[in-house]
Amino acid sequence: MQALVLEEKGVLALRDIDLPLTVGPEDVKIAIHTVGVCGSDVHYYTHGAIGPYVVRAPMVLGHEAAGTVVEVGENVRSLSVGDRVCMEPGVPDPSSRASKLGLYNVDPAVRFWATPPVHGILAPYAVHPAAFTYRLPDNVSFAEGAMVEPFAIGMQAATRARIVPGDVGAVIGAGPIGIMVALAALAGGCSRVLISDFSAEKLAIAAAYPGIEPVNLTETTFAAAIAKATGGWGADVVFEASGSAKAFDGLFDLVRPGGAVVLVGLPVDTVRFDVPGAISKEVRVETVFRYANVFDRALELIASGKVDLKPLITGTYAFGESIAAFERAVEARPTDVKLQIRVQEEN
Ligand SMILES: [Zn+2]
Repeated sequence: MQALVLEEKGVLALRDIDLPLTVGPEDVKIAIHTVGVCGSDVHYYTHGAIGPYVVRAPMVLGHEAAGTVVEVGENVRSLSVGDRVCMEPGVPDPSSRASKLGLYNVDPAVRFWATPPVHGILAPYAVHPAAFTYRLPDNVSFAEGAMVEPFAIGMQAATRARIVPGDVGAVIGAGPIGIMVALAALAGGCSRVLISDFSAEKLAIAAAYPGIEPVNLTETTFAAAIAKATGGWGADVVFEASGSAKAFDGLFDLVRPGGAVVLVGLPVDTVRFDVPGAISKEVRVETVFRYANVFDRALELIASGKVDLKPLITGTYAFGESIAAFERAVEARPTDVKLQIRVQEEN
């Protein structure tokens, strides 16, 4: 089977590779239609590693996927052949302590697509547990289905924030994840969300959504903009979605007393953290690692029209052009949010 293989750092190949396609009793086999290119895929390509996860053998990339069920295991009742689906890429051990606590995303045994040594799904077919495969509502396209995975991170962040209706949100960073977080925060009850970035292009994409207010950091500080917008009180919930160490300087100036700061972005190195600043406001600090139990809710929001992710799909490539898609993703054009690859058109 042809797949997009990361041979080693900096070397991609579209080539044949043996992938396990045995359908177990609880599994479904999926003909992959659309796969999104994620920052993590690109980072493995350019750096060969993310933190402790190091590419030591050829690995198929891709983990944001939608497709059509073509075969179901003998115990599967929830899905049928022909169902259009999207897939949650992390599969935990169901009997682990973390899974029993409902925290399956932090199960140390979780197997996550395109995280070494687990192959991703930039290939025509994949086999996946039915329990982590979700039927797409009729009005949700494959392209939107492949956006559920990155949006799920926003959903997890909004859930961790424990938003109360009418909260004012603030998001540091208008990259793909920052925008996903802002949209989930609005859907979760925020009255408005201020979002900061140094890029006018990125801010313009975010600000096209009603309720998202852009703050250009080349013109003002985020703290000043939030103070102005909230009468000096601060945002109820602040999401750090840039992963930049600099974002931690003055982080607690953004949040109101008793508010929440949710850490979503993953800094490369250890960062300085203003403990007195957090304590003096009794700030609740939350962290987000991937997501758990949010795919159904994400699909409900997309199907209802409350969340529209289509404007964030800024380029689509044929499977044969996968390497070109990755080269463009490496460019990190500020006008690009999500690039997608169509693996198989006809399903
Ligand atoms: Zn992703």
